[in-house]
Amino acid sequence: MTLASPEVLDIEPIHTCNLRCKMCHVSTETLTNERIDIDQLERSLDGWEGGWAYVGSTHEPMAHPEFPKLIEVLARKRARIVLTTNATLAKPAALEALRGADVRRLYISFDGVTPSVYESVRRGASFDKALEGAMRLIDACRDAIIAVNYTVMASTLADTRAAAAFWEARGVHGVGFIVAVRRSNHPDAISEVLAGRQAEVTSAMEDVAEDIIRNGRAIFASSPVFSESWFLERYAGYCDPPVVFSHTGGKRPLNARTEILTAPHPEMPIACSAPFRGAKIRYSGEVVVCDRVVIGNIHDAPLLEIWRSPAAESVRATVPRPGNELCASCDYYRFCLRAASINLKDESAYTSERVRRSA
Ligand code: SF4
Ligand code: SF4
Repeated sequence: MTLASPEVLDIEPIHTCNLRCKMCHVSTETLTNERIDIDQLERSLDGWEGGWAYVGSTHEPMAHPEFPKLIEVLARKRARIVLTTNATLAKPAALEALRGADVRRLYISFDGVTPSVYESVRRGASFDKALEGAMRLIDACRDAIIAVNYTVMASTLADTRAAAAFWEARGVHGVGFIVAVRRSNHPDAISEVLAGRQAEVTSAMEDVAEDIIRNGRAIFASSPVFSESWFLERYAGYCDPPVVFSHTGGKRPLNARTEILTAPHPEMPIACSAPFRGAKIRYSGEVVVCDRVVIGNIHDAPLLEIWRSPAAESVRATVPRPGNELCASCDYYRFCLRAASINLKDESAYTSERVRRSA
């Protein structure tokens, strides 16, 4: 039987970012500015339609000079779009393209709620301008579920308690609190991670939950803390792990990528079906499965041919073997697909596998 086309397509449009955030790999990386050829992408997507397109995960997608054209291509493909952006490059043409597309979810990366905290972390950005950009995006994507990705780290811990009220007042549906993971050995990255300070993280997240529940806020919050058994017991009726909400409404979240890629699959012994249901197209045109295994390039063959190639089948034959090295060292599984259930009491939750193995 022919393998169905990928249900989830991650697209990383460009290898750059206009910011240099304190905790981010971008700050220590050599950026090539390499970008997806949008015409080639459209040709390669022949036969792929109606799936989920996650635009931007590791770099800033709106830095691609033809970002509006990319969104128009995805609209023609009837893609359900999930966009992650720092909101600082929300220009009129991009907003217009987003208005004409099926944007299902908008993630705005925004740490802290005060200029001093925000600008100390999001180096190169102005708080006021980023907020203006966020408001323009919220307006352009008003049919989407809109969430703010808030990195919980040493510099931003104190602002977490005010985040729900701040974003509720601006029409955002949820705040996702993501604990910073050390992805390099740079002193900034080391000083910001909260390994050993789990009690402070728990206390801050409990304050967020109390604020949402007691004040009946029309906004949800997510954190691995909200999946812990003591929390579910104490706040029964207000949680759908890893989400906390009040009873006054607000849009509930759906992370299609997590739901689809962790759904059971007959050939997978673990709760991950990523190589059977999802692929990523990098700025170079490389097509990868499991976030890092290259199976081809859209400059050489159409996506669906690559997806069903011997190289792809070989990965699918390898991953179901118990204890295989690919799964054992998979940060994509731990920090992306299963981020909601990561155990914050475990020190390894704060360091990427690549950094741990290089120590
Ligand atoms: S905006 Fe995002 S990709 Fe860019 S440096 Fe900050 S965290 Fe990294
Ligand atoms: S390598 Fe990662 S993404 Fe691939 S099957 Fe294993 S856990 Fe899933």
